[in-house]
Amino acid sequence: MREAGADVGVDPWGNLFGIVPGSTAALAPLAAGSHLDTVPNGGIFDGALGVVAAIEAAAALREVRTPLRHPLLLLAFAEEEGTSFGVGCLGSLGAAGRAPALEALTDRAGRSAADAIRAFDPGVPRRTMPRAFAAYLELHIEQGPVLERRGAPLAAVDAIVGIARMSFVFRGEANHAGTTPMDGRRDALWGAADLVAAVREMARGTGGRAVGTVGQCTVSPGATNVIPGRADVTVELRSADGGFLDSLCGEAVAAARACAGRFGLEVEHRNRWTEPPVPLDARVHEEITGAARDLGWPIVSMASWAGHDAKILAAIAPAGMIFVPSAGGISHSPLERTAWEDAARGADVLCRALLRLDSWDGA
Ligand SMILES: [Zn+2]
Repeated sequence: MREAGADVGVDPWGNLFGIVPGSTAALAPLAAGSHLDTVPNGGIFDGALGVVAAIEAAAALREVRTPLRHPLLLLAFAEEEGTSFGVGCLGSLGAAGRAPALEALTDRAGRSAADAIRAFDPGVPRRTMPRAFAAYLELHIEQGPVLERRGAPLAAVDAIVGIARMSFVFRGEANHAGTTPMDGRRDALWGAADLVAAVREMARGTGGRAVGTVGQCTVSPGATNVIPGRADVTVELRSADGGFLDSLCGEAVAAARACAGRFGLEVEHRNRWTEPPVPLDARVHEEITGAARDLGWPIVSMASWAGHDAKILAAIAPAGMIFVPSAGGISHSPLERTAWEDAARGADVLCRALLRLDSWDGA
């Protein structure tokens, strides 16, 4: 960041940032970056690519002596994955003024987030990060197979999907697995298994507008020779359309009741948790698309099916994201790979989009 001409600091949430001065005083900064942390046994692109690309854009603009009118804020967010303290996007939540109390968050060793940040010494001064941005841009790998399948090198992200999570408890009757005839059994897992199939068919029937996953299933009492008396399952649904997501949740509840009714079971629906979809800024999306067009590269529009810092930043600034392909759709793995050519194209579009955004009057 220093080599790119930035004045560097670390904020109270452990986010590293650098500010490259703009040529016009009193304009709010344009911000670009992503996160620097990753998951255990992750790859080298998730997050880091967007940080490196933002620095590279600043360095390139310096090299060709083209200062922006706006200051350029380079961002390397901390703890986006939530791996250490269990809260995803902790760094960007802090930057947006929405972080939970750091003393109350602890890692597996019992150390609080506040202590971890106090002990974090990247060798740069502690400083306050500006909170008003003219716009925020984030380059990120797609982490899925859509771009590769479509043969597209770039995407401008139009929304980050909403997520709904529910859990269901099916109750039947535990009994002897040998002496109880098949007719008349009240096997709780039969209901749960039918719900798994119902969620699969429901999501597959949306034509790509939603995904659905049953990721947890616990069977009780859990013995090979006992008919399950109870089955607990979770259902997670994602869609970029909030109304559609709500209607799918309703369908899942109805399906669970039907599945229970088929086998004389009771079903209880618990803990519905919904995070609504976040639309990204339409004008920033237009500038990203325009930047790709300026450079002669095809670009598609798509939703992000994973969460990102941009989802948090969208609450305080017009935010946009650029996706580049993930080979084989693999991410959160050491096999995560993006061709250098694709990474460079993404960085070029980021830089070009910053130049286009720079002509805005700013917030
Ligand atoms: Zn990421």
